[in-house]
Parts: sequence; structure tokens; C-alpha cells
Amino acid sequence: MATVNENYLKLPGSYLFAEIGRRVAAFKEAHPEADIIRLGIGDVTQPLPAVCIDAMHKAVDEMAKAETFRGYGPEQGYDFLIEAIRHNNYVGLGIEIAANEIFVSDGSKSDCGNIQEIFGVDNKVAITDPVYPVYLDTNVMAGRTGELKEDGHFEGITYLPCDAENSFSPDLPNERVDMIYLCCPNNPTGTTLSKEELTKWVKYAKENKSVILFDAAYAAYITEADVPRSIYEIEGAKEVAIEFRSFSKTAGFTGTRCGYTVIPKAVKGLTKEGKTVEFNKLWNRRHTTKFNGTAYIIQRGAAAIYTPEGQKQVKELVGYYMENARIIREGLKAAGIEAYGGVNAPYIWLKTPNNMPSWDFFDKLLTEVNIVGTPGAGFGPCGEGYFRLTAFGDRENTLRAIERIKNKLHF
Ligand code: PLP
Repeated sequence: MATVNENYLKLPGSYLFAEIGRRVAAFKEAHPEADIIRLGIGDVTQPLPAVCIDAMHKAVDEMAKAETFRGYGPEQGYDFLIEAIRHNNYVGLGIEIAANEIFVSDGSKSDCGNIQEIFGVDNKVAITDPVYPVYLDTNVMAGRTGELKEDGHFEGITYLPCDAENSFSPDLPNERVDMIYLCCPNNPTGTTLSKEELTKWVKYAKENKSVILFDAAYAAYITEADVPRSIYEIEGAKEVAIEFRSFSKTAGFTGTRCGYTVIPKAVKGLTKEGKTVEFNKLWNRRHTTKFNGTAYIIQRGAAAIYTPEGQKQVKELVGYYMENARIIREGLKAAGIEAYGGVNAPYIWLKTPNNMPSWDFFDKLLTEVNIVGTPGAGFGPCGEGYFRLTAFGDRENTLRAIERIKNKLHF
């Protein structure tokens, strides 16, 4: 009989959202009249910008004629999209990134999950706690960890705790690590790292010959000047960092699917014999072997956001969600609840009142005011005592939810 990859057996079931679903379904059955508002999801609710729809319609028409039909495209992405990304997100900010350092994909989840394949299995991995689960789970699957311990941490991973005490900015590890996952703006905490804080990480990576895997899926939500939109704004980062970006939250592409990864040629790793190899070359090999390109129609839709009208529409879309974030943040504060994030990110990370366990707070919010959020403990042991609300709902529901929290929630 074929054997299985037993690393998969180390992973607990996808407990978080299944358990949320179970509790909400049970509550609904007992209270069918309850008007439940969901502020737990990380998915967008507003339609795609009109420029994207127009560009995709046009691309569909091109597919209808032999002269303009497209079959397989370049696995790395079409030039029109790569050049638009390069000029708008990098060259325009004074960052020199070459076209062959950008790889278009079907979204960031695949990229930040697959990237670990081009690293040695014995690399030491550092991950923040709490964390977007993809980084950790894919490293468990690949065999870079031991078993899950009772404290909720995996053996062999260097965890970087992030809580109110360190302002959600992880301290440098005490030991040497090879791969460092940083997410900024952060999911779930909604907080960011300043230029100074990121500079500290780039310096560490250079000194320790580590690679930073920088997830900037929420870069479009940054409003403050001191927060870097790209890690390459930090001097020297081009030698030590890989950056992930997505059109999902920037332009509502969660169901449309498009993202990209930047791997500068200067980011290198070692073979066992001590020879240096460009990660760019390995990723190019992987991408061209395992991926056949993002659909032409979708890439046309994505490129449309870089037109002047597209930039305006994307700004409006992000602004809509960020107004929700402001409403939630200020509403929570008015209700006497300590809240973080929501200034440069669509996530608000609140401290549960009276240190209530995060699942107890989930139940309280659901049963007393019929609001669904996400318990912080679901993102890692350091998320215990915290709770995530998202700004991706529609305006009316966001306003109604906050009114309920302010007027009807007692603690
Ligand atoms: N990175 C982070 C931090 C996310 O929160 C998400 C989605 O929720 C992703 C990446 C995945 O984005 P995509 O839709 O591009 O796969």
C-alpha cells in the first residue's frame, strides 16, 4: 500500500471556522428569529471596480475571435500586467525591480503556501503568534516541524509573540533562524511595522543570512506615511526579502483570483556544498513546472486598476472599508473596549473585556447582540484574550453591529 505524508497528520483539523460555523448554526436553530450580523469573515462584500469589469468584458470579446484569441500565456504573467505592477508599485516609489523578478499568480495564498518548497527542509522557521495560518501549516506539511505541543505550538518552530505589551511588533529571535514570515499590515491584528522596525528585521536577515517572507496582501490599506508599502523601501531588503502581494483586498479579487510575488535576483540561498543559488531561479523553475499562468481575462481585469480611473476606483473601494474600520474602532472605544488596528488595515483586534477567554467572548457577542467575530485564540496561543472584527461588511450592518455593541452588550 502507498504510504502517506505523515506530516499532514500532525495538523489539527481546520477547527477555527468549522467551530464558528457549528456554534452559529446551533444558535440559529435555537433562535430562528435572531438577526445575525457577521463581522468575522476575511472576505470582501463590495463588487469589483467598474474598470476591472470593463477590461474583463473586452478580454472576453477578444477570446471570441481567432485573431485575438489567447491560449496558454507566459507562466510568469503577461508583460502588460508585470509592467503595470513594476511601474506603479515599485519604480514609482524609487524601487528598481526587474520584470523577471515579478511572478503573477492566482493569489497570495498559493504563493505564500508554496514558497517554502524552494527552501531546504532543515531550515529553521520563525513565525509570529498570532498568525495567518498558511505560513505555519505549509511548513508543517513540508516536515519542518515536530509535533504539536500541548501549549498549541509546534516543536521546531521559533514563535515570535505579538501582543499589546510589544505593540504587536515582534522582537528579534534569540536564536538564528533561516526563514522569517512577516505580515504587514497584519492579519489578524490589523497592526503594522514602521520603517524603523522593518529596518531592524532587514539588518537581522543580512547578519544571519536569513530570508524574510514578507506578506503585503493588505498594502493598499496603509494610510500612515511612516508605514512602508513595500519591504523594498528598506535599504538592503532586495538582498534578503521576498514579497507577496494580492489583488484580493486591493480590488475585490477574492473570487476573481490574482496576485504576485517579487523575488529579487539578489536573494540567495546555499547548497549543502556551500554554493549560492538565486531563489528567483528556483521559483521560476517551480512556477513554470507547476503553474500554467493566471487567466488572460483576469490579468486584464487586474491591470485595469493601474489606469488613472482604476486608481480612483480602488481608492474609493478601500476607503469604503476603511470607513467601516473607523466606525468599528471608534465604536469599540466608546463602548470601553480596548482596540488595535483598523488604521492601516481592515482588521480590528480587540482586547476581550476582563481578560475573558476569546471563545467565551465569541459566545457572549453571539448570544447577547447576535454578532459573529473571530476568536483570537484561533490564530495562535498568543491570540488568547483577543478577538478579531473585520471591516469587510457592508456599511449598514457595520453601523448596526456597533450600535448593538455600544448599547446592548454588558460586561
Ligand atoms: N495573506 C494574508 C495575510 C491574508 O489574510 C490572505 C487572505 O485572507 C491572503 C494572503 C490570501 O490572499 P489571496 O486571496 O490573494 O490568496
